[in-house]
This record gives sequence, structure tokens and C-alpha cells, in this order.
Amino acid sequence: MNVLSVASEGYPLVKTGGLADVVGALPQALAPHGIAATTLLPGVPAVLKATAGRAVHHWRDLLGGGPARLVRGEIGGHPLLVLDAPAFFDRDGGLYGDPSGADWPDNWRRFAALARAAADIASGEVKGLSFDILHAHDWQAALAPAYLRYGGAPTKSVMTIHNIAFQGRFGAEIFPELDLPESAWSIDGVEYYGGVGYLKAGLQAADAITTVSPTYAQEILRPEFGMGLEGLIAQRANSVSGIVNGIDPAVWNPEHDAALPARYSPRTLARRATNKRAVEHEFSLEPGDGPIFTVVSRLTWQKGMDVLAECLDDLVQMGGRLAMLGSGDAGLEEAFLRAAERYPGQIGVRIGYDEPLSHLLQGGADAIVIPSRFEPCGLTQLYGLAYGCVPVVARTGGLADTIIDANIAAIDAQVATGIQFGEVSRDGLLHALRRACELYADRRRWLCLQRCGMKGDFSWGRSGAAYAALYRGLINT
Ligand code: ADP
Repeated sequence: MNVLSVASEGYPLVKTGGLADVVGALPQALAPHGIAATTLLPGVPAVLKATAGRAVHHWRDLLGGGPARLVRGEIGGHPLLVLDAPAFFDRDGGLYGDPSGADWPDNWRRFAALARAAADIASGEVKGLSFDILHAHDWQAALAPAYLRYGGAPTKSVMTIHNIAFQGRFGAEIFPELDLPESAWSIDGVEYYGGVGYLKAGLQAADAITTVSPTYAQEILRPEFGMGLEGLIAQRANSVSGIVNGIDPAVWNPEHDAALPARYSPRTLARRATNKRAVEHEFSLEPGDGPIFTVVSRLTWQKGMDVLAECLDDLVQMGGRLAMLGSGDAGLEEAFLRAAERYPGQIGVRIGYDEPLSHLLQGGADAIVIPSRFEPCGLTQLYGLAYGCVPVVARTGGLADTIIDANIAAIDAQVATGIQFGEVSRDGLLHALRRACELYADRRRWLCLQRCGMKGDFSWGRSGAAYAALYRGLINT
């Protein structure tokens, strides 16, 4: 079976968040199930570098952006197709915005073009390429199922929601530019509260919908999580399922991680001490008896970073230290930088994006704090589990599905893997941080937590099988 997986990002070529990790790992996860997945990415400069050779297809004018080509390449040893549309993707700046961080004003056209190209390819318009399933990820690819449907192509489609908060909503005035039939302008099509909704259109048109954890699939039926799409999700409930993300063992494995000064396994956890020294050095932290908490995250409201910022004085008072890597809201960046000035030696903050440093933090810090208000799946807690960096998480979405709370019974039964808390508030998080400090002081129990986490199965095995079963089910209907 051949699957075309289309997204705006894919590790290791272009990444701003967890979406890239999943898109990069999916082909390998599907391969053991006899499924050949080809990934389609936009031809931003970093992605184009991974391509070589002749174009396999030309568009004379792709959605008003002028000529575009389709070029072959490779991602993680699997086939890649790149949409080389210079008017849309050959720019300095970010994937989604200009160097100042403002969204590109033509994002609607850029990603409609990506989706249009995906639909053309999946409906057999490119010689030599044929696909049974089109798998679209998030709003940037979400018009693809709509283009398939309105083009009358029989190819089945899957729409995966990695984060329902990002919906790709634009004004009604773009509709005539999308090259969709008039009939698409309806409540059953792309129209959404008087404008155009890309994710909404994909959810309406796709044959199957997935979210990246079972709990999130339930949560988005409620207004506070569904963010306007809860009605549509409820309407399509029979087509919605939750498949938790796995992690790529070739990239995230403490026994073979080149970013770590000392590599280790559950049996050689003592070696982590070397990595901890490296974290202290990188973040100018003084040695201490308490745990080093880490954060590797977008600094946003979703991630509960405002709540963490309120807890920092107490965190230091209870003997904890913090090594933070992240970027995001200017106000939050500022708040954490100020805290680092207030507590030199106890709080270290690195604003920016640094892949190797994110590995060092997982391999050297004691606990990773993830106080998300909502978390479709979350990957950093899975990396924490694999690296013996105990996750301290809010009980929501994928965090609820992947962490077993360290209550006494769970510790004694040797199944606990982290610390969960219910309410994302200062009190809720402080209580969890205190529990972490207490458990950390009990070396035997802490070691047990680390080992239980590391021994868990967070591979793609089960999830790859679940996607494969979903695809097969669609083809056989
Ligand atoms: P989201 O996709 O919502 O941002 P996830 O937990 O699903 O959250 O995935 C985040 C991914 O981005 C992880 O691979 C994490 O390690 C990585 N990441 C986040 N912030 C940074 C950063 N500042 N530097 C390096 N990697 C980061």
C-alpha cells in the first residue's frame, strides 16, 4: 500500500515542533506493516537541499504563485517529494513567518498550494506516482482532503489533528482564489463562521480523522478543548480515533545519543551524573542537593508557562533548580530571563531553539516540567521517560495517557513513571513540584521511577500498527 503523507514540516529537514518529529518518524513506523509512505513537504531552502535531480512534475501556475515543480528527495531513508514553488517558499525567515516573527500574509495561499499539490499527486495526476491514501497533518495540509473530495478523486484521506488550536482561519475573500467549486462554500464544506476554515474543511472532507492521543480525542468534544470545532468532531465521532505518537529510537536513545557526554541505560543510570554536570555548566547552575528541573518547550499559554513563571520563587526555596530552553511569547521570555537574573546559579534560561541542547537536558536534568493546559500528545514527556528525566505533567491529553502517577501504590507496584497534577494553577503545580522534590530525596524511589519510565514501550510499534489498520479499513470499505 502507498501512502502520501503531507505536512508543513518534517524532522530532520524542517522542524518547529512535535509535528515534525511525527511526520519524520511515520514512514519508518509504517514500513514493517507493508506500507510505503512518501512524505510531501514545502520547498523551503532547508528542505530543497535534501533533493537532487530532475523535476518529476511541473505546474504552470500553482494557485496564483507562478510555476512550481515537484522534486524527489529523501527523508530518513524514505521517499520525499518536495514542492518547489519559489514564490511561496524560497524566502529568508521562518517557515510560517518573517524574520520579525509575524505570520507571512500569504500563508493561506502558500499552504493551499501545498494541499492542492498533494491532492493532484494523490489523485494520480503525476505520471509514475500512485497512492492509495492521502494522509494530511494539521491545518497547513488540511485543504488536501477537500481538494480530493471536490475533484471527485476516489483516493481515501486521513486528517490528523496534532493541535486543534491552530485552525488556519482566513477571511471569506480568499475563497474565490482557492480554485474550489462554488458548492464548497457551505457549512458542509470550507465555510467556517463566515470565513474559510482549513482544518474545518479537512475534518469535513476526510474519510477518517485521528488525533494524537485517545484522551485528546475525547477532550476536543468539549468546547474548552474543541475551540469551535467540537460540534463537527461530535458529528463525525464515528470516524474519529486517537493514536498516540511514538518516538524515533534512532534519534532519541540515551544509549547512542551523540549529544550526551555520557551515554547510559537503565542499568547504568549513575552515568547521568556526568550529563548533569554538563547541564550545570551550560546553564551556570551551582551544584546542589535538590533536583534540576528542565523545560524544553514553546513558551506559551498552552504550555502553562505563565503558571510555571509564578512558581519560580517557591521552586528555588524548596531546593530545586531550573534549566530552561525555549522561545515564544515575549512577555514569558522576559519573565524567565528576569527570574534567572534574580536567582543566578539556581535558574538558567536559554532563549532559542537548540536540538542538541534539548537532548542534553533530557539526559542530564532530573525532571521535565510540562504544565500544559492542553496537550494533544506531547513528545517531551516521552523523551523524558526514555532518558530517565522524570516527567512532571498536567493530567491532560497525551500527558494523561502516557504517564503513570507516582502515588505510593504505583511506586510499590513498580509501575509509576512520573508525577501528574490536576489543576493547572500555581497551587496545583507547586504541589507537584514539592512531591517531585520529596521523591527525589528518596533515592530508592526516584531510581525506581526513572527505571520504570525507561523500561516502558514508547516506540512506534503499536501506533504504526494502528495507522496501518486504519488505512486498510478505509481501503476495504
Ligand atoms: P509542540 O509540538 O506542541 O511544541 P511537543 O511536545 O509535541 O510540543 O513537541 C515539541 C518538540 O519540539 C520536541 O521535539 C521538543 O524537544 C522540541 N522543542 C521545543 N522547544 C525546543 C527548543 N527551544 N529547542 C529545541 N527543541 C525544542
